[in-house]
Amino acid sequence: MSTSSHKGLSFARRLHLPRSVGLGMGFFTVAAALYPSHPPIWVWVLMVLHGYVWPHLAYLLACRSDEPYKAERRNLVYDSLAGGFWAGAMGLNPLPAVAALSMLAMNNIAAGGPRMLAIGSVAQASGALLAYWIFRPDLFPAVTQIQMYACLPMLVIYPLAIGWLCYRVAVQLSNSKKALEKLSTTDSLTGLMNHGAWKDLLTLEFNKSRTLDRHNSVALIDIDHFKTINDTYGHIIGDSVLKQLSNALSANLRETDLAGRYGGDEFCVILPDTSLAQATDILERLRRTVNEHSHAALPDLKLSLSVGIAAYGAHLNDAGMWLHEADMALYKAKSTGRNRVTSAPPGVRACESADAELE
Ligand code: GH3
Ligand code: MG
Repeated sequence: MSTSSHKGLSFARRLHLPRSVGLGMGFFTVAAALYPSHPPIWVWVLMVLHGYVWPHLAYLLACRSDEPYKAERRNLVYDSLAGGFWAGAMGLNPLPAVAALSMLAMNNIAAGGPRMLAIGSVAQASGALLAYWIFRPDLFPAVTQIQMYACLPMLVIYPLAIGWLCYRVAVQLSNSKKALEKLSTTDSLTGLMNHGAWKDLLTLEFNKSRTLDRHNSVALIDIDHFKTINDTYGHIIGDSVLKQLSNALSANLRETDLAGRYGGDEFCVILPDTSLAQATDILERLRRTVNEHSHAALPDLKLSLSVGIAAYGAHLNDAGMWLHEADMALYKAKSTGRNRVTSAPPGVRACESADAELE
C-alpha cells in the first residue's frame, strides 16, 4: 500500500466517527425543523438515509477507492451539499440552519483548511438553492421551542467529537516529532548518539565547565587496526565489533557519562564531574575489558583500543579546542604503540601539544 493511500485511509478512519455522530444528531435537528411543513415521505426516507446510512457508506467508498484521500474530500463536499440542502429545505430557519451549517464549516476547516472551507461553502450554498427551488419554503421562520431543543445534542456533542479528534491528532503529531528527533540524533548501527548530537552536548558541557568551573573530561576512543578486522573477517563482523564496543561503553561507563559514535571506528565520551586521573582510570578499565574479551564465534579475533583524554582547563577557548586536545592525546596513543590510554597534559594549549607531536 502506498504512503498516500495509507494516509487517505487513516483520514477516512478519523472522519468516520465524527461524521456518524454529527449526522446522527443532525437528523433530529433537521426533522424538528422540517416537521411543521409536513414534507413528503421520500424526504423522510432521505433524511434517515443521510443521518444513519451515509456515514458508513462514505467510509466504505473511501476505503474501496484507489485514492482514499481524494474520495474522502469528495465525501466532505457531499456533506456540505447535503447540509446546505436541508438548510434550504427548512427555509434557512435561523437556529437549526446556522447550527448545521456552522458545524459543517468547522468540520471542513479542521479537515482541509481554508481551501476546503471555501469549497464546502460553495457546496452548502448550491445545496440550499437546490432545496429552495424544489420546496419553496417560507424563508427565516420563527424558531419553535422543540426546534431549539432538537439542536442541543448536535451543538453539545459534535464539537466534543471534533475536539477529541483534534486532540488525538495533536498527540500523534507530538509522538512522531519525538521519534523523528530521536532518529536524527541517534547512530543507526550502535544506537549511541551520533556525531552532531554529541558535539552539541560537548558545547553545552564546555559552557557549563566554564561557568561552574567543574572538572569535566572528554575522551576519544579508536579501535586499533579496524580496517584489518574488516578485511579479514568481513564488514558484517566489523559491524558487530562496533556494536560490541558500544555495548561495552554502555556497560563500563557511568550513567552520567555521555557516549557517542564520532564516526567510523571512533567513539567519543564526555565524563562530567571527572578529573583527568579519574577519567584515565575509567577508560583504562574499559580498554582492559575490551582487550580481554573474546568474540563468541571468532575466538582469534582480538580487539584493542587506543584512547585519548583531555580535561577541561581555563586555557581552552572553545569546545573545538578541547576536542583537539583529546585528538592529540589519541594520536599520541596511536603513535606510541596503540592499545593504551593517553591523556593531554593539563593546561597545555592544544596547538602547543600538536606542535610537540609533530616534532
Ligand atoms: P588505526 O589502528 O590507526 O586506527 O587503523 P584502523 O584500521 O583502525 O583505521 P582506519 O581509519 O584506517 O580504518 C577505519 C575503517 O573503518 C575504514 C572503514 O572502512 C571502516 N568503517 C567505517 N565505518 C564503518 C562501519 O560502519 N562498519 C564497518 N564494518 N566498517 C566501517
Ligand atoms: Mg581505528
